[in-house]
Amino acid sequence: MNVTIEDSCIGCGACESICDAVFHVEDKAEVNSSNIAGNEDCVKEAAGACPVSAITVA
Ligand code: SF4
Repeated sequence: MNVTIEDSCIGCGACESICDAVFHVEDKAEVNSSNIAGNEDCVKEAAGACPVSAITVA
């Protein structure tokens, strides 16, 4: 699974609240790729919850 954050991220923090093992938000969300394995379900949940659809899961 490959997770990227688009520039449209508004830094709302929702992804981190849903899946804090993978997402960390300062000004914008950052992805801790080494933690994706085993957290796929919450990554998908965070992608679905992002208000600006900035999380791309491939
Ligand atoms: S939920 Fe979306 S807009 Fe909010 S911080 Fe995460 S990637 Fe950015």
